[in-house]
Amino acid sequence: MNILLTNDDSIESEGLKALGKELSTIGRVFVVAPQKPQSAGSHATTLHKPLRAEKFPLNIGEISSFRVSGTPSDCVLLGIDLLIKETVDIVVSGINKGPNLGDDVIYSGTVAGAREGAINNKLSFAISVNDFENPDFIYISKLSVKIIDALIKVIERKNLYFNINFPNLRKTTIKGVKFARLARRRYKNRITVGKDPFQKEFYWIGGTLDDPLEDETDSKYVEEGFIAITPLLIDQTNFDVLNELKNFEIKI
Ligand code: MN
Repeated sequence: MNILLTNDDSIESEGLKALGKELSTIGRVFVVAPQKPQSAGSHATTLHKPLRAEKFPLNIGEISSFRVSGTPSDCVLLGIDLLIKETVDIVVSGINKGPNLGDDVIYSGTVAGAREGAINNKLSFAISVNDFENPDFIYISKLSVKIIDALIKVIERKNLYFNINFPNLRKTTIKGVKFARLARRRYKNRITVGKDPFQKEFYWIGGTLDDPLEDETDSKYVEEGFIAITPLLIDQTNFDVLNELKNFEIKI
C-alpha cells in the first residue's frame, strides 16, 4: 500500500514525523508536505505563481520525501500527479497540533489535505490532537495507524475522507473511539483590537467557543476523552433545500 503523507504544520513538525514512522509499518510512505506552516489556510491552491519541490529526507522509514513551497492541497496534487512515481492508495494528513473539530474543518489546512486526497479518489484521513502544547505524538501515531488499518479493511469507497481528532491526553485518558457528526462551533470575542508601535490599530482574529457543545458531536466526544471520527463528503450540495425547491420556479 502506497501512502501519501502530508500536513499543514510543515514538513519539520513532530506530528508528521511520528505518524510517518508508524505508517511505514503498514505501507510505503511518501511524504509531500509544506515547507512552511499553513494552518487555517484551508483548501488554498497555488495557481498564480510557480511552486518548488525539493527532496527533504526525514529518515523515518519513508520511500521518498519532498518539501513543497505551497499548501497541503498543492502537496497532495503534486504528489499524486508528479512527485510519486507509483500509484497512491491512501492519503493521510497530520498529525496536526491542535484540534480540527466541527465547523472548523472548513478553515483547516490539515482537513483540506485529506479532502484533496478524496477529490483525487483516494481514501483519505485527517488526524489532529486537541493539544497545542506537547502532545504525545508517538502514542497518538500508534493509535492512528490502528484506526486507519481497521477502516481501510471495511471501507471500499475511495472518494471519502475521515476527520479524526484525539483528546488532550495530558488532561484526560482515552475512553475509546466514537463515530460522530460535526459540531456547530461558533466563537465569541472573535476580534482583539491592539495598537502597533506606531499607534496604528491592528486586529487579531481568534476568540473562545460560544455554544455549549451538543451531545454526540465530535467536539463533545473529544472533550469527554474519546477519539472522534467523522466521515466527510466532498459534495456540499444541500439536498434538503434542493428537494424543497424542486417545484419552485423562478421566471426570468
Ligand atoms: Mn496546523
